[in-house]
Amino acid sequence: MSERPKIIVVGGGAAGLELATRLGRKLGKPGRAEVTLIDATRSHVWKPLLHQVAAGTFDPAQHALGYLAHARWNHYRFRLGVMSDLDRVGRKVILAPLYNDKNEELIPSRSFAYDYLIFAVGSVSNDFGVPGVQEHCLMLDTKSQASAFQQQLLEALIRANTQHEPLQEGQLDVAIVGAGATGVELAAQLHQVTRQISQYGFEIIDPDRHVRLHILDAGPRILPALPEKLSGQVQLELEGLGIQVHVSETVTEVTAEGVHTASGQVIPAAIKVWAAGIKGPDFLGKLGLSANRINQLKVNGDLTLEDDDRLYAIGDCAACVMNQQGDLVPPRAQAAHQQASFVAKALERRIKGNSFNKRYIYRDYGSLVTLGRYSTVGSLMGAVTGSVRVSGWIARWVYLSLYKMHQLTLFGWWRTGLTTLARMLRRSIDPAIKLH
Ligand SMILES: Cc1cc2nc3c(=O)[nH]c(=O)nc-3n(C[C@H](O)[C@H](O)[C@H](O)COP(=O)(O)OP(=O)(O)OC[C@H]3O[C@@H](n4cnc5c(N)ncnc54)[C@H](O)[C@@H]3O)c2cc1C
Repeated sequence: MSERPKIIVVGGGAAGLELATRLGRKLGKPGRAEVTLIDATRSHVWKPLLHQVAAGTFDPAQHALGYLAHARWNHYRFRLGVMSDLDRVGRKVILAPLYNDKNEELIPSRSFAYDYLIFAVGSVSNDFGVPGVQEHCLMLDTKSQASAFQQQLLEALIRANTQHEPLQEGQLDVAIVGAGATGVELAAQLHQVTRQISQYGFEIIDPDRHVRLHILDAGPRILPALPEKLSGQVQLELEGLGIQVHVSETVTEVTAEGVHTASGQVIPAAIKVWAAGIKGPDFLGKLGLSANRINQLKVNGDLTLEDDDRLYAIGDCAACVMNQQGDLVPPRAQAAHQQASFVAKALERRIKGNSFNKRYIYRDYGSLVTLGRYSTVGSLMGAVTGSVRVSGWIARWVYLSLYKMHQLTLFGWWRTGLTTLARMLRRSIDPAIKLH
């Protein structure tokens, strides 16, 4: 091992950015290790906010965290690039060449040596090979995809509001495939935004008549992570808003016209969103490491890879068994947060030369779903009380606290307080939705 151990974290999302920050402060600052974060993009937006970016209720240009500045403040190095390969013998991470928007090569392929490497590259939407998804559906895997969605929605609304001919059937309809938290929260956000938009000069559009929102799922009910009663309650609420919920409908094809299902239905929609499941990024399955059929890397109880104890995987890209039935830790921000803090402790001990024999135990604190300004509901897990249903402001507060915990890890109390205050002030002078 080199004199100052080199730790590389690949992926600066919910898990990786928290890990790099903790390691930078604990090991980078006192010079005990050289900590490097690699990410494909230059700034971070917490992924659970992407449906708000898509709907235009969260502006990433104002709130994204720039990696370079954060690295300087937290004693790690940031390197921009997309990991494409791994040299396990030479212990090197290989990055693909990087191109700008004009397809000019910005940075040639390069490699970085590591002593410890942590995969935190998240997940992408799984299209399950359904024809037409890649060509016709939008996805919410990255900030740029969410921003592209917001632009497409805004353009569709502008066109509809200014065209000479009457609005055509389905011209503004949206079909969301996948009735998990992402799909349901997106539908509620879109409902809210399309109602607010008439205040900003879009008088021609009558949202109740012209914007139909559909959610489809192959499963028998929406929000399978929530107790059945709660998911029924949310479905009633969505339907009360006029959102059409189609359960037990397997999507067989997506075309420019709309979404086709196995029962023969065609849901016409101009905008189609795919949020029906996840998989690890494809390159993970090609590195010669043990991975499951959806490219998640198989980890031991201490989150090291089954193949190599210098390699770790955390967050959505890790296949971490959590019980005797072989169920995997779900791809959630709370798991990413917990695993980042577990691996930070493990590495601190290993670098000091101590052993670390603990196993990571996933603590499920419950699931919450917010329907924007309409409501927030969910169930919280108490050690003594078991699962408790919550709604109203308590649910809203707990929902928001997950993001606050992420911010606290990244910025500490003082900066998180200032950031929150700055956001509140901006909200009082900005329009409620992004209109550009
Ligand atoms: C719209 C939406 C809403 C959600 N809401 C919730 C919620 O309410 N509650 C909840 O618990 N979870 C929610 N989730 C899930 C949650 O966002 C994820 O579980 C969590 O972000 C996983 O963290 P991660 O660090 O593994 O991945 P991510 O946060 O996705 O970060 C991955 C990072 O890796 C980088 N990267 C990827 N590939 C490469 C590469 N080859 N080279 C370099 N960098 C790379 C990416 O740029 C990214 O920064 C939601 C997800 C979505 C999409």
